[in-house]
Amino acid sequence: MQIATTVSEVRQHVRAWKREGLIVGLVPTMGFLHEGHASLIERAAAECDRVVVSVFVNPTQFGPNEDFESYPRDFRADCALAESRGATLVFHPEPSEMYASDACTFVDMDGLTGQLCGKSRPTHFRGVCTVVCKLMNIAGADRAYFGQKDAQQLAVVRRMVRDLNIDVEVVGCPIVREDDGLAKSSRNTYLSPEERTAALVLSRAVREGRALIEGGERDGERVLAAMRRTIEAEPLARIDYVDMVTWDSIEPVRRVDGPVLVALAVYVGTTRLIDNFIWEG
Ligand code: AMP
Repeated sequence: MQIATTVSEVRQHVRAWKREGLIVGLVPTMGFLHEGHASLIERAAAECDRVVVSVFVNPTQFGPNEDFESYPRDFRADCALAESRGATLVFHPEPSEMYASDACTFVDMDGLTGQLCGKSRPTHFRGVCTVVCKLMNIAGADRAYFGQKDAQQLAVVRRMVRDLNIDVEVVGCPIVREDDGLAKSSRNTYLSPEERTAALVLSRAVREGRALIEGGERDGERVLAAMRRTIEAEPLARIDYVDMVTWDSIEPVRRVDGPVLVALAVYVGTTRLIDNFIWEG
């Protein structure tokens, strides 16, 4: 496995691969890789000839009071995991390599970003779209792999690719969980042992919401109210949002008539965690 820190190094590799007619997969990450990331890398390795994993804690997708500085980083461990799951190249740029000091072009989206995480993180998706668009351009990827763990992000990226005619196939991959149900996340490392136990309310609420819809409940507010009650019963948890939107246009919806995304963000202590399920109907 190779490591590149500059855009031109990545382009050299990709040009050589393309000359051989090889299919290139891209897995964008912020590092501190776990089994969730590993599932994306493995899928990419199974479906593509070459796999580029980017490890970049993207400053533009963090708000001013968010955890950009303290976000966990362990590049050596990331390389070991990426290589063991089939990555060909890890792209690990400095922020200055990705953003010139006078960079003034960003990818912004009018729709899809006003709900869910877009409400509490108003500049987040502008940063996500910009960096993902740049990574797709840099890696010349034929396919790009994203987790349903960040379901709104998956929908946003799909829409951006469609709207901007980016020549890449976006592949969504299922949420990978711990044995007890907690969705794997680099941010789980922030949790104390008590908070780690309390964090199970997210997946419990997800299971309850899904069971209600599977049982025939079609009133969105009733589903959400039950989920909120479960979370509010946990003293260490504080709800940011528990909402239902259309999948995949991320518009508010009150009844379960077509495919819906039920998503939540919950602070456990000071750590903000997310989880969701998609009901395809
Ligand atoms: P991150 O490093 O958190 O930006 O995540 C990079 C990619 O990995 C995103 O597409 C995430 O949705 C995906 N991902 C993170 N955690 C999980 C998980 N538990 N299951 C599946 N995909 C995940």
